[in-house]
Amino acid sequence: MPQLRQNIITGDWVVIAPERAKRPNEFVIPQSVKITDKSKCPFCPDSEGYKKNEKVHRANTENIMVIENKYPAFIENESKSQIRSYYVEGSFYRARPSIGDHEVVIVKNHGLSLMTFDKNIMTEMFQVIKQRYDCMKEERGVVSIMPIYNHGAEAGASIDHPHAQIFASGIVANAVGKEMDGAERYYGINGSCVFCDIIAHELKEKVRVVYENDDFVVVTFYAARFPMETWIYPKKHQSQFETLFKDELIQLSDALIYTVRSMEKNVPNIPLNWYIHTLPTTHKDSSSYHWHLEITPRLANYGGFELGSGIIIDIMSPEDAAEYLRKPEQKE
Ligand SMILES: [Zn+2]
Ligand SMILES: [Zn+2]
Ligand SMILES: [Zn+2]
Repeated sequence: MPQLRQNIITGDWVVIAPERAKRPNEFVIPQSVKITDKSKCPFCPDSEGYKKNEKVHRANTENIMVIENKYPAFIENESKSQIRSYYVEGSFYRARPSIGDHEVVIVKNHGLSLMTFDKNIMTEMFQVIKQRYDCMKEERGVVSIMPIYNHGAEAGASIDHPHAQIFASGIVANAVGKEMDGAERYYGINGSCVFCDIIAHELKEKVRVVYENDDFVVVTFYAARFPMETWIYPKKHQSQFETLFKDELIQLSDALIYTVRSMEKNVPNIPLNWYIHTLPTTHKDSSSYHWHLEITPRLANYGGFELGSGIIIDIMSPEDAAEYLRKPEQKE
């Protein structure tokens, strides 16, 4: 069973999930896992591999199906007593059961990829994610939910069949907690949402704006951690992803499709992740927090300084990145 352990010095949490355990000599450096034989693909609905897994279907629509992750980082709660944190080793360290849920949102067509999803597939995927989000919210012990997508082996995609994942946890994700604290501090000083202010500032400056439609604006991040790191913000103040209506999900799909395809045109076979940062499910609404989708192209490996200092050296300016992403065809 996975366990959450707290860093006694910083307060950050990690999940220790030895179910996927390997001996040191079994670790492999990630490589593209291309599954050409679809009958062996664990995510192809008619394959032997899929039938062998005998997964519980959580949702099934025309182009999408949702199953439980085979190696969940967070597992459904069996009894109430297991939710709380506890102290171990003479009450020195703090741990808690890794309660929650972990699902795989599979696009049925093996031949598609994040780069070839059309607006209908992408919108259907977001609709299913939202529907599963609403269900997970009701599960016992769930505090925070994060939809993510890994594209390419270097971005952590271990199976070469298009799929998103939804992580539901009993703790607020470290990164979301830090953003909430910062946003609240900013609100306290300025009386406004820092994300709304970023949007207004970026639309005025224009140098980092990549794309916009009726509801969303796509901007390279001022203090980027990766070359071409890009955030998608809803233009109107909205603290919760799950409050989106269908027409907004279509606009979100439009913005995401534009951005990832532009990245792909600039850097063919670009590995990337996207993930959604939204308000924990225990909060009703927030004036200071504003949900958003972050896209992190994995074009740089962190070295000793980045890991040692926590200070990232990004070798492309976000202003240049925005220019490339705005006009992918005209790159040199
Ligand atoms: Zn497949
Ligand atoms: Zn806002
Ligand atoms: Zn964020």
